[in-house]
Amino acid sequence: MAKKNVYFFGGGKADGNESMKNLLGGKGANLAEMAGHPDLHLPVPPGFTITTEVCTYYYKNGQKYPAGLKEEVAKALKKVEALMGKKFGDPGDPLLVSVRSGARKSMPGMMETVLNVGLTAKTIPGMIRQSGGNGRFVYDAYRRLITMYSDVVMEKGGGIEPKEDMGIRRQLERIMHDIKKKKGVALDVELTVDDLKTLCNAYKAKIKEVLGKEFPDDAMAQLWGGIGAVFASWNGKRAIAYRRIEGIPDEWGTAVNVQTMVFGNMGDDSATGVAFTRNPGNGDDHFYGEYLVNAQGEDVVAGIRTPAPINTVSQSDHNKDLKTLEGAMSGVYKELYGIQKRLERHYRDMQDIEFTIEKGRLFMLQCRVGKRNGPAAVKMALDMVKEKLISKEEAVLRVTPEQLDELLHPIIDPAEEKKNKPVGKGLPAGPGAAAGRIVFTSADAMRWAKESKQVILVREETNPEDIDGMRAAAAILTARGGMTSHAALVARGWGKCCVVGCSAIEIDLGARTLRIGEAAVKEGDWVTLNGTKGLVYAGQLAMMDAAAENQDLNDFLKICDSIRALKIRTNADTPDDARKARGFGAEGIGLFRTEHMFYGKGSAQPLFLLRKMIMSSSVEERRRALEELFPFMKKDMKGTLEAMDGLPVTIRLLDPPLHEFVPHQKEQREQLAASLNISLEELEKRANLLQESNPMMGHRGVRLGVTYPEVSETQFRAILEAAAELIKDGKKVYPEIMIPVVGEVKELEDQLVIAKRVYAEVLKKSGLKKIDHMFGTMIEIPRAALVADKIAEVASFFSFGTNDLTQMTFGYSRDDIGGFLQDYLEKGILPDDPFQSIDIEGVGELITMGITRGRKTNKNLKVGICGEHGGDPRSIAFCYKAGMNYVSCSPFRVPIARLAAARAVLADRPAKKKTRKK
Ligand code: ADP
Ligand code: MG
Ligand code: MG
Repeated sequence: MAKKNVYFFGGGKADGNESMKNLLGGKGANLAEMAGHPDLHLPVPPGFTITTEVCTYYYKNGQKYPAGLKEEVAKALKKVEALMGKKFGDPGDPLLVSVRSGARKSMPGMMETVLNVGLTAKTIPGMIRQSGGNGRFVYDAYRRLITMYSDVVMEKGGGIEPKEDMGIRRQLERIMHDIKKKKGVALDVELTVDDLKTLCNAYKAKIKEVLGKEFPDDAMAQLWGGIGAVFASWNGKRAIAYRRIEGIPDEWGTAVNVQTMVFGNMGDDSATGVAFTRNPGNGDDHFYGEYLVNAQGEDVVAGIRTPAPINTVSQSDHNKDLKTLEGAMSGVYKELYGIQKRLERHYRDMQDIEFTIEKGRLFMLQCRVGKRNGPAAVKMALDMVKEKLISKEEAVLRVTPEQLDELLHPIIDPAEEKKNKPVGKGLPAGPGAAAGRIVFTSADAMRWAKESKQVILVREETNPEDIDGMRAAAAILTARGGMTSHAALVARGWGKCCVVGCSAIEIDLGARTLRIGEAAVKEGDWVTLNGTKGLVYAGQLAMMDAAAENQDLNDFLKICDSIRALKIRTNADTPDDARKARGFGAEGIGLFRTEHMFYGKGSAQPLFLLRKMIMSSSVEERRRALEELFPFMKKDMKGTLEAMDGLPVTIRLLDPPLHEFVPHQKEQREQLAASLNISLEELEKRANLLQESNPMMGHRGVRLGVTYPEVSETQFRAILEAAAELIKDGKKVYPEIMIPVVGEVKELEDQLVIAKRVYAEVLKKSGLKKIDHMFGTMIEIPRAALVADKIAEVASFFSFGTNDLTQMTFGYSRDDIGGFLQDYLEKGILPDDPFQSIDIEGVGELITMGITRGRKTNKNLKVGICGEHGGDPRSIAFCYKAGMNYVSCSPFRVPIARLAAARAVLADRPAKKKTRKK
């Protein structure tokens, strides 16, 4: 049998179901599920879905349809006609359909839909008769068809690229605008049937003039035109740009849904709306949505009229005077409320639904898992576990690391926010806060962002063409649109700070200026947004971090902790960072860099002493300098060991090449010379001797300890004495001493001899019987991974230093990769920046080999990672699979790592599902 290309749904039956998203697209699969699943049988207008495979075929075969498609479509259409008792293209009682796109994943507003297909000179009179003489409605539907068809099918589908603001849709909208102005009306619902007839004729003339073709007056031609245009829209510019950003493969293709039209524009007992089964902005368990009376399709999201709230919990400042659906049509509202409850139970997740009410009758047009921002994702996941709707494992899979990141985003410092009065208020469409310089176009946003300027994109309302600029901006602010407008939808998906529908805004695009209430602002001026409350402030307000007090966040992370196997440590160099990281849940320090004490606050004296040590030319000189340095080192170690209270602290010995510390200013050099009792010339001579032509591969790390054993010795002593003193104070400590830049076991053995001697001396001096500690190494040189079996005989732990390991495996200098990385990414030579996400194929292979070989000779070998990658979710998943014991990342990434580590476990074993509740 030939492959099935068309799947029917309607009348309580469906060929497909929800599990067939790949084939039917998200929209088609869910339409089938809503129509056909015995638990649902919802009122879905009948129709059929042409599969994504047809789209793939179409592009593979020079834009031709597979054989037999026409016949299959005709057969499915017959079935729809039989159910509806109407015929497509019939003058007596015509069936109208919509042609809707629908890929696997929703791509909001990226692809195309045409409504009211089948209206022609032949069918219009019949349509008017069937609607009880409602000519106004029929011509309203007709002008919408002409607009959508000319835009989607004739222009975009025809590959025509109009000049800025000269697209056919814009041109038709201008005609509409002129007619409204001439008639002195503000809204399109105020136009009469004769106005609409005039409008349709003017539209058709304009189309002929601009596009050089007639608008087709044949139902079948319209249908196939629509189908072709949906397929064409898959390769439209906007859709391609969106796929790049979202990482959606080109091969997926889109499905086409052809569906019986129902009409929300038949009068005041008709309406159309969109809703969420829970609030997607904060996760509250309230049915939440907007609707418009006497409207069709995109009117709700287009921002032409202000949509009304469906119920009182959906009210905002912005729409509180409008009548709720609950108040206006209580019976239909009740039915809708019941349906959304059933849908959420059925799908066991928050649903985003589209509905239309035709003369008091409710129809369901779409449902899908609703996008939500981070705070809402966490709250819903927690609530649904409490409601026993989902399992803990599923809850963990419901929150992405990116969403969790939003909860860790800065908010405006509350004290600062209290002092300032907002200049405008809109709807809270994207969480957190952001400050930036305002720009007015997507292109400007991209240009400024390229220059590393933080910008806020301000638009009347956004549309899919703004997508790149929205991405580049730190936040988005619009004058119009509701919580389901394009800007809100996109920002929510990305977790970007966003305020929409700020009606106090007046934009003068030409002058690049803006009025917000009283305030006048121009391009480049600073504005601060509170996306959680929908507030706009003039100027740049101070930000702060909100994560610590968030109970939901902590509860959710506890669930993650109950699932993950990897320990999460942090990279911290100061007691302060250590405490912060423990607050975020860190279970140890994976990297404490000794050299940190020579940078920043309070570093002047230790740095001076270090320099003295570096400039010493004899062992005696060096020992003297080290003795002076010793108390500083010990104090530094003590602070952090104490802050971690018995949790392991991996302390890395001095790593960077010494000449990095040599002062450049003459004055400092003179001071140094004086303290060493040598001349400036002598000092400069010694400094020059330290110069290396390739310092990153030069005299650094363990190599320093081999050449200057006293340097290592002092550090060992500082660590162990710090530990001893704390133990004697009744504190718990666990230092792990780590030697960097090792490539050969003998290097490590050389150092271990010193460490053992110092340990014995410290025990003797302190009178302690033992100090729990470990001695291990960083694996950051490819050779170390290769000879890991030998190294593991000496080392008790490995910590993969993936920054250097990546650098040396690829031979890319970390500091210079910027010069060519972009080209490598654009040409697809590298999939990602290997310094951000582990190169699993190459560097990952070395890691796996290192772990396997190391554990062969030392089965208790503890293994972790301390490079940048330790905070990257994809890399964390890899580390788990590779068999590491822990990952270590910066304090702020610790919560994300906790989640990523739990998800890594679940990626390996399928989550237990709660059984479906009826
Ligand atoms: P998108 O994928 O951009 O959301 P849709 O295919 O969902 O596009 O169509 C947009 C809107 O058009 C829907 O929300 C719905 O209001 C309207 N629509 C689509 N098909 C029909 C139909 N058969 N009857 C009535 N309205 C429809
Ligand atoms: Mg839709
Ligand atoms: Mg290193």
